[in-house]
Amino acid sequence: MPCTDAGVERIAAEARRALDLCNACRFCDGYCAVFRVLRSRRTVSAADLAFLSNLCHNCRSCYHACQYAPPHAFDLNLPKSLALVRQQSYRDHVWPVCVRGRPPGSGWGFVAGVTAASVALVALPVLLSVPPELLFGRQAGPGAFYRLVPWGAIAGVAGAVLLWSLLAIGLGVASFWRGMGPAPAGVALLPALRDALSDAASLRNLGGGGAGCNDRDERFSQARRRFHHALFYGVMLCFAATVVATVYDHVLGWQAPYPLLSLPVLLGGLGGGGMVVGTAGLALLKRRADPAPLAPGLTGADCALLGLLFLVAASGLALLALRETAAMGPLLLAHLGLVLGWFATLPYSKFLHAPFRFAALLRAAMERRGLDSLSRPGRGRGPTEWGG
Ligand code: SF4
Ligand code: SF4
Repeated sequence: MPCTDAGVERIAAEARRALDLCNACRFCDGYCAVFRVLRSRRTVSAADLAFLSNLCHNCRSCYHACQYAPPHAFDLNLPKSLALVRQQSYRDHVWPVCVRGRPPGSGWGFVAGVTAASVALVALPVLLSVPPELLFGRQAGPGAFYRLVPWGAIAGVAGAVLLWSLLAIGLGVASFWRGMGPAPAGVALLPALRDALSDAASLRNLGGGGAGCNDRDERFSQARRRFHHALFYGVMLCFAATVVATVYDHVLGWQAPYPLLSLPVLLGGLGGGGMVVGTAGLALLKRRADPAPLAPGLTGADCALLGLLFLVAASGLALLALRETAAMGPLLLAHLGLVLGWFATLPYSKFLHAPFRFAALLRAAMERRGLDSLSRPGRGRGPTEWGG
């Protein structure tokens, strides 16, 4: 994929051409937030491109509905154009500044390399310091995990890597927020934040021009939305399990591993199951998807993140199932290393689409509320059909 200046310019010019055509045509106005935002613009600026490309959920409805899509001479492919601009927006705003312009996690290689290094970072000190009969022996009872890897080492290394990644994501999103241009003035943030949270939690923009996405052809399907929900809420449940386990350990003094019917195990088991189902389902849909509305070269980044999340969840579930056997030691090292790899790649992998898309949803909600207030009687003229 081109990331030279000329290549970037070509991608932007093609996306602008597509959006200008859409703005004149307006057939897809009701499909998603992209078209609703487009309606309020006469021309599409560079800031608008960054905004609209991250607002697009790539449901592909507008491609299948478009009378100007190939083989028409206009050769219009809006989902593909927006996907290419979206990928460029990650490069433009990734932090630290010295890696800007480079493809953040654009394929398997980066995520696989960092994850392999993370597994080695966790496993090597343990292999060198823990006697083999302990590491490969059967462990049970409170504190069994920490006999192999001390809690301080787990929390210290994982915490430091996670803090770095959250800082990088925060600064990247702040740069992206500025890159979308000035936010609408005089709009209350909290109600807009509530709207954006609702849009994100329901994946409303995956509805497209019917009931769901067009993964393979003109038929609508809710499969992508369901698998995405399974993955998202699976990650949330695993996070909740970690928080509860931390409270158990450090407030109540109850050390892991916990019984099967305890809250951390139930939350983690459900969350891990959701992540396995979600990642496997999304990967399968990607494999079967019609390649025409997809941007070439981006599937690797998607699959790298899905593959890593699948391994994180599967290793966690395997650890849960086999924790009282001799496999517990190797599984614990593998799971901790994979989680560390995930944390380390957060700001440089496809994961970045989540905070960027949320920022775009928030900006869209602010615009929507700003225009709504303008269209109220006595507040001047504005589009009256903006909502929805
Ligand atoms: S995608 Fe095609 S049909 Fe839809 S608004 Fe754009 S030009 Fe019109
Ligand atoms: S979200 Fe769907 S309908 Fe909207 S621009 Fe993207 S692909 Fe087209």
